[in-house]
Amino acid sequence: MPNRLTYKVAVITGASSGIGRAIALAYHREGAFVVCSDIREGSRNEHSGETDISTHEAILKDGGKAIFVKADTSKAEEVEALIKKAVEEFGRLDIMVNNAGIAIEAYNPQPIWEYSEDSWDRTLAVNAKGVYLGCKYASAQMMKQEPHGNGDRGWIVNLASMLGLVGTPKNTGYCASKHAVMGMTKVIAWDCAPYRIHCNAICPGYVGTAMTASVFADSEFRTRLEKMHPFRGLGEPEDIARTAVFLASEDCSWITGIGVPVDGGYTAM
Ligand code: NAD
Repeated sequence: MPNRLTYKVAVITGASSGIGRAIALAYHREGAFVVCSDIREGSRNEHSGETDISTHEAILKDGGKAIFVKADTSKAEEVEALIKKAVEEFGRLDIMVNNAGIAIEAYNPQPIWEYSEDSWDRTLAVNAKGVYLGCKYASAQMMKQEPHGNGDRGWIVNLASMLGLVGTPKNTGYCASKHAVMGMTKVIAWDCAPYRIHCNAICPGYVGTAMTASVFADSEFRTRLEKMHPFRGLGEPEDIARTAVFLASEDCSWITGIGVPVDGGYTAM
């Protein structure tokens, strides 16, 4: 079912790596024009440790339309400029994927009494405030635009986590930030519904990316994690990208304000 996003303009934050890169490439394959944004342009291959061709270059090489815009999602002026640049370049904004995120806990897990204020501040700044800023500036642009043929003006997709639905030890800031993403997704869905702007979230289980490389390096822990996902061990970025395509397409015509667990059954435990 290709071409579900033909001529739609999509901004993806954190597009240089892992899940964001997979979403950008999937959107391109579905016909979208892609604005790849990140704090760094090159893409690190978590398996080889080498730097891959950057995401927007990979799309251009494949005959698609894409640009790279450097932006730190925790800074309001940079997110506002990112949306402005997307509209200058492609004329409108149809899809906003708030994917950029950090997980300090992946390499430094601490119980609450050891969890530093700095880790809390940095995590909430990117994972919660960054998503809020992306939703704010994207929705402000989308609501000004002419609707598509089916009446929809835009699609916002937020990357939460299964840890936005359940808890786990030694993950205070990450879990709190992802629960915040779930909360704001529901509120933004209400605020934006009169303008026919969808706002949904994806709640991935453990996926093999740069973010989880240090977690998976411990083979005993990795095996334990795999067993906690009843379906088939750990996920691939493309598992998440498939859901991100659906949530940005006209196939989700009457869906807004939800978080879709794409977690191999983890949260069904
Ligand atoms: P990743 O580390 O591979 O990629 C994250 C990207 O975000 C990187 O390219 C990084 O440069 C960028 N980034 C970090 N801070 C940024 C900032 N302030 N502004 C702009 N870009 C920034 O991670 P991933 O696994 O692909 O994670 C993507 C999203 O999915 C994150 O929100 C993460 O929390 C979420 N998630 C991941 C998993 C998993 O197991 N990998 C599970 C659940 C949720």
